[in-house]
Amino acid sequence: MTQKRRLGIMGGTFDPIHHGHLVAASEVAHYYSLDEVVFVPTGLSSHKETSKVAAAEDRYLMTVIATASNPRFSVSRIDIDRPGPTYTVDTLRDMRDLQGPDAELFFITGADALEKMLTWHDTAELVELAHFVGVTRPGHRLADPGLPNGRVSLMEVPALSISSTECRDRVGSGEPIWYLVPDGIVQYINKRGLYRATAA
Ligand code: ATP
Ligand code: MG
Repeated sequence: MTQKRRLGIMGGTFDPIHHGHLVAASEVAHYYSLDEVVFVPTGLSSHKETSKVAAAEDRYLMTVIATASNPRFSVSRIDIDRPGPTYTVDTLRDMRDLQGPDAELFFITGADALEKMLTWHDTAELVELAHFVGVTRPGHRLADPGLPNGRVSLMEVPALSISSTECRDRVGSGEPIWYLVPDGIVQYINKRGLYRATAA
């Protein structure tokens, strides 16, 4: 019997993608022996005020740039091409349809996002579709999510106190983001003039 393909899914706004995201994906891929991690930039986010989020195409391209050098990382357009706000259950249903029954899905998410996700009403379907791996991020203590046996795991990754919010704020106030994000992302943000403070 052939082994199932083990596929990680890293959803996020990626506004912009930073080294916290990349380290989390890399650590989970290593620990769970994943064959591939697919980064899935969100369409209109159901949680964030959409007017403040950079264009989907910019977020998609930055995600491609940041992951291009890793042969096990790829990027999917499924969420940005689906009209309307992104719900994780749709991401997982579409991924399941695309990948077929021979893939085992691992949804990678920060502990903060996991906490919220598991209070949603479709939790039962979510954990049916994928194994959830919550990674620690600074400021969030690992707590037992108290949920379906074997379908939700928590994993500590080296703490990187980087957030997209901080990167955007830094760009807005003229502070450097070198080494918080890959070099190509610094250059892309400059080239496109993203996150610059706009005069009111
Ligand atoms: P924002 O500050 O705009 O909320 P973010 O840095 O949280 O952005 P997202 O695109 O919202 O980035 O995050 C995508 C996923 O990556 C989420 O599951 C989030 O919890 C996780 N994540 C974000 N930053 C880190 C980090 N430094 N370490 C580990 N996981 C992270
Ligand atoms: Mg976030």
